[in-house]
Amino acid sequence: MKNTEIKQLIKEEIHKTKKLIEMYKEETKPVAPDCAIDLVSRTNAMNNMSITNSALKQANLKLSSLEFILPNVGTPEFGKCVNCRKEIPLGRILVRPESLYCIKCSE
Ligand SMILES: [Zn+2]
Repeated sequence: MKNTEIKQLIKEEIHKTKKLIEMYKEETKPVAPDCAIDLVSRTNAMNNMSITNSALKQANLKLSSLEFILPNVGTPEFGKCVNCRKEIPLGRILVRPESLYCIKCSE
């Protein structure tokens, strides 16, 4: 795959992740205190919120990792496992750009 194509894929992933972050932010907005919902709904809402909050953190981490690796495309350092120096499959890089290890080494 050409470097320009890889960059394009990363940019698309950045775009998708940004949209996801927007969506999560919308979902984690605090519920108005005068909102008349019963305790069960409120507890559910709070549980969902903590799940969304961790998803939001994950998405933010992914975004910064994607932005970090983008300029490295085409350099010898790009996409190599920091441990065994083997090439990390692009599919894995796009899903988990924050991981600097190949599947074997991260196990
Ligand atoms: Zn490795």
